[in-house]
Amino acid sequence: MSLSKTDYDIIVAGGGLAGLIVASSAAYYSNQRLKILVIDRNSIDIQGRKTISGWICGDAVGKNTVDYMTERIKISWGFPEIEHPVKGVVAFSPDHETKVFFDGEGYLLNRKKLPQKQLREATKLGVEIMSNAIIRQLTTDNNYIVGVEGENSKTREIFKISAKVVVDCTGVTSVLRSSLPIKSYIQKRIDRNDLESTGRYIYDFDTEGKEDKTYFDPDYCIIHLDQNLAPGGYGWVFPKGNTKVNIGLGVQQKLFDKSNKDFGKKRDLKKLIDDYVSANPVINNPRLSNGEQDQGNEWGTWQVSVRRQNDCMVANGYMMVGDSAWMPKPLDAGGIGPAIIAATIAGKDLVQAIEANDVSENGLWQYNKNFINEYGYKTAGLEVFRRMLQQLSNEQINYGMKHFLSKMDIDKITNGEHPEFSSVSKISMMIRGALNKKLAEDLKYTANMNEQLVTHYRNYPDTPDDFPDWSTKLNGYLTEAFSRFS
Ligand SMILES: Cc1cc2nc3c(=O)[nH]c(=O)nc-3n(C[C@H](O)[C@H](O)[C@H](O)COP(=O)(O)OP(=O)(O)OC[C@H]3O[C@@H](n4cnc5c(N)ncnc54)[C@H](O)[C@@H]3O)c2cc1C
Repeated sequence: MSLSKTDYDIIVAGGGLAGLIVASSAAYYSNQRLKILVIDRNSIDIQGRKTISGWICGDAVGKNTVDYMTERIKISWGFPEIEHPVKGVVAFSPDHETKVFFDGEGYLLNRKKLPQKQLREATKLGVEIMSNAIIRQLTTDNNYIVGVEGENSKTREIFKISAKVVVDCTGVTSVLRSSLPIKSYIQKRIDRNDLESTGRYIYDFDTEGKEDKTYFDPDYCIIHLDQNLAPGGYGWVFPKGNTKVNIGLGVQQKLFDKSNKDFGKKRDLKKLIDDYVSANPVINNPRLSNGEQDQGNEWGTWQVSVRRQNDCMVANGYMMVGDSAWMPKPLDAGGIGPAIIAATIAGKDLVQAIEANDVSENGLWQYNKNFINEYGYKTAGLEVFRRMLQQLSNEQINYGMKHFLSKMDIDKITNGEHPEFSSVSKISMMIRGALNKKLAEDLKYTANMNEQLVTHYRNYPDTPDDFPDWSTKLNGYLTEAFSRFS
């Protein structure tokens, strides 16, 4: 394949959170030598919008990942894209008796304002932006991706643009991935049960003098674990000020359907969220935020994946970053942090591959390795842990959080890693109840399985040739673990 006659060096498909960082990172690492185009279906004023109902997100990100980007590619975020700082995240057991702090300092972003800042940074680095352009498909030549085809959403004019590499940042519903037209190791489809249905409001409210920091805390992002209020997921109350909140929840649809059946109810996601808001004693008189910064983004539902990242994220002339590669963390669906890390890495790896004149699967492979070494090594273990948690009752979660979580486990969770539950062995003689004994065994099992999976990911193959054996072994571990918690 000839690399010399393309319109661009890099096309970034999707100019959302991940896409604009990939483009800026590649421009930065190449000293602006490369020709980079970001294509998005939105117009500039609504850059980064995920769906017609807005920039649907919990808006929370750890300071450490923003710093990761700043240190490497010298892009920093401030007001107004950062709306509110927090000291960390706190998760409450269903009975509110046990709380676990994790994740450290962070920010509540304004996802509508952030892309405007990102656009300014990218264009300053010479990145070109093409708006109102819906990408319909990838173009191919000799088992390589060589560009994109699509249409202008206003004029209906068709466009066809070529590039050495297309970076897919089109989000969780990526049609580019699901209909990838070349042979590769990329998994095209996601299991329905690995997607959470989620939704949230951005509300102004009155506290009416009430204070209960298990329901709202201006300094902490609150997570409520409760299988009744959020089957197979969790509810969140993230502060955006003293009287402003991002409040919502996510569920696994299958468990939500089961819960409705068990309780003889017909609730949909919106009803579940409305009930969650009404049950909050601190959020009084909630009103959709009416500031310009939230207009068109006050309420909405969307999907988020909660599995490990795609087992392979590159193919000839193609790469995926962010939600298109299923990067959100399996335990809490936090996707901004991994997207920032992956996008920063991807820019650098892309420059190396293009400058080495090798954008084959093999030439881009280093991105798989680098992301896994930095972040992705832990996600399969967290996926197993997530599956284990989803099958617990509220009583088991209450008991487990109270008795089985040690300080060391919490430190691990703080680092986004899997806890070891070493206290489970120490107190196993004293565990009350058969279900709690089973829980103790399950926790020990996930800790052991996690260790094996992390070791396996640390041995992620150096080249595509060794991928099939690695993948077979991975699937062996996962099949065993998933059958235990199915
Ligand atoms: C309800 C909810 C709450 C969440 N809460 C949090 C949280 O608190 N913290 C956190 O870290 N993560 C959270 N996440 C996940 C986080 O929002 C995502 O991980 C993040 O937005 C991923 O960024 P992205 O750039 O990969 O994809 P997206 O943000 O989805 O951006 C995709 C971009 O591609 C464009 N696009 C799509 N298709 C096409 C096409 N065919 N042609 C042209 N352009 C296209 C879109 O217009 C958009 O601009 C949450 C997700 C949801 C749904």
